[in-house]
Formats: sequence, C-alpha cells, structure tokens
Amino acid sequence: MEHKEIMRDKIMAMFLLGAIGDALGMPVEVLTKKEIQEPFGYIRDYLPARPDHKWCKGFVKGQWTDDTQLTLAIARAYIIEKSFTIEHVFLEHVKEMERSTAGWGGSTIESLKRIKGVYPNCNISEMGNPTGAGNGISMKIAPVGAVFAEEIENAAKSLEYCEYKEFVSKREDIYLDCIAEIAQMTHCTRMGIASGFAQVGAVLTCFDTYLDLGSVNNYFTAMVINAAEKGEAYLINDGMIDKLSERFKNLFQDDAYMKMTVDELLSATDGATCYVYNSLPFTYAMFLRNSYSIETLFETINAGGDTDTNGAMVGSLLGAYNGTKIIPKYLLDGLWNREEVEKTASDFCDSLGL
Ligand SMILES: [Mg+2]
Repeated sequence: MEHKEIMRDKIMAMFLLGAIGDALGMPVEVLTKKEIQEPFGYIRDYLPARPDHKWCKGFVKGQWTDDTQLTLAIARAYIIEKSFTIEHVFLEHVKEMERSTAGWGGSTIESLKRIKGVYPNCNISEMGNPTGAGNGISMKIAPVGAVFAEEIENAAKSLEYCEYKEFVSKREDIYLDCIAEIAQMTHCTRMGIASGFAQVGAVLTCFDTYLDLGSVNNYFTAMVINAAEKGEAYLINDGMIDKLSERFKNLFQDDAYMKMTVDELLSATDGATCYVYNSLPFTYAMFLRNSYSIETLFETINAGGDTDTNGAMVGSLLGAYNGTKIIPKYLLDGLWNREEVEKTASDFCDSLGL
C-alpha cells in the first residue's frame, strides 16, 4: 500500500477502535476485575448499560460515550479550520454538550458551562478546573497526534535531515502550546497538560510507519516519558504532588511492566481508575505488552477500572498502530452510530489530503 492509503486506514482504525473500546467498556465502568468476572464472565462483545449504571443509564449495546463524542468534536474542529484553534475546539465541545452529557467527567462539564456563561468575554484556556486530574484530556486528544504524524511524514519526504529535525522540534513546541490550551479549557493542571501531551506522543509513535517489530516499546516509552516531563514543566506550582512522568518511569524502567501479571499491573496503578495518573500508565502498559492483537482490548476492559476510557485509549492506539485489519467484523457491525464515527473519520482524512 502507498503511504496515503496506509495512513488513511490507520486513522480510520484509530477512530473506530477507539469507539469500539469505549462501547465495550461502557457497561462495566468503575467495576473491578472481580466485579466484572462474576456476573459477565469475560467480555468480548457489547452489552447494554446495567440498570444501576450511575452515568449511562439506558445506553444500548454498542453505544459509545463521552470519550468518542469529544474525540469526534476535536476532529471536527480540525476539519473546519485545518488547525486545532481553541475557539473551534470549544464550540464543538458546546455542540456535544447540548446533545448529551451522559457519562461526562465533572471537570469537563463544569468548565464548559462556566465558559459558556461568559463567552466570548473570556480567555477560554484559563477557565479549566484547577484540580482536574481525570482522563478528560488523554481520552479525546488522539486526532492531534494523527495530524502531527502526517506533518512529520511529509516533512521527512521533502526536507533535508537538519531542516527536518528543526521542523519537528518547532512543531513540537506548537503542539505543546495547543495541548496546553485544550487541556486548560477544562483541566487547568500539570496532570491535564502532561497526560494530553503524553497521549499525543503515544499516538505519534503508533503512526510511525518506519518502526519495526523490535523497537516500538523503547521508542514509545521514551516518547511518553519525555512528553509528560515537558507537559509537567509547562505549568508549575499547581499544588499537585503526583507526577505522571515518574509513574511512567517506575513502570517502564527495565521493562518492569513486561514482567508483571495484569493483577500486578492493576495494583501498581491503583486499579486503573479514572485518575489519569492510574489509568494512562495502565493503558500504555497493556498496549505495549501486546500491540498487535484485539485481545489486548478485551484484556484491558476485563481488568476493570475506568473501562470505557481505558478501552477507548487502548483501542485508539491499537487502531493507529495496526490499521483496520485487526477490527473484528461483529464489533464493527454492532457499533452504535457507526456511520457518524466513519463519516467524521473520513472527513478528517480528507482534510489531511489522504
Ligand atoms: Mg466515558
């Protein structure tokens, strides 16, 4: 396949498998591994929301949640502007907020309501929750990584090595500012920026068509540690003690995560809960342990914790890395509002010239 075809296929898979992971995890959100096992067995297919689901009551089989809703919102902001301008990102968020906020995180919904009350007389990217440390940024930021990856690919083809290096470094600074703006709209914290930038780095690694089988893990772990450190340095003195970069280092040092069982990984990340400091390192470890198989997605969801978000994030990485060939047909066919995901993904590829 030509580069453009490969890239388009990977981007389609990133959106689709993200939505599939979100929908698979939706019914068991916040349950533990044991609480999933007893009534549900091992989940490999969609289930409707359980009647006592706190956030997604009435959701049907295959229905995705805020993770996909806001990923598509960010993609649409890009489709309109060919950049991730904060105002368009905000306006697309508002459209989704008016459609449904079932399952949304507290920092996101409260901050958007606050901005909406004073917009346009405000600085959108200073209005986020000063203690926001959930998954609200990393769960929706994958489209930024896809655009950055395509820019790097084009630069590699057209520029000399030194110019190329300079281009990548400049774009990295621009994207760090961009992620910081998006993060601080809802999560005005170091953790918000660091998690967003780390996820962009993770997605970028998955799109790299030159990586061979042996090198992805080291490249990936170095990339996310570096990105988290840059994100953390962007905003200091926010009063938070936990550092995402430190958690990554502990887990990735000497390939510790490769030697752990899923239960050991869960205890190292406090159950992979909705605190991004827990769920993002868990998600990356799961992806890196087996980056080539849909089984990784099932294992992530059956481990419990923030299952819809962890599923969405692992799904996006698996899709970006492997393309559509790893998506089982029954999961694609059963996906709620599949047309919407495909249409947005396709328009997004078109706007990138793919
Ligand atoms: Mg969700």
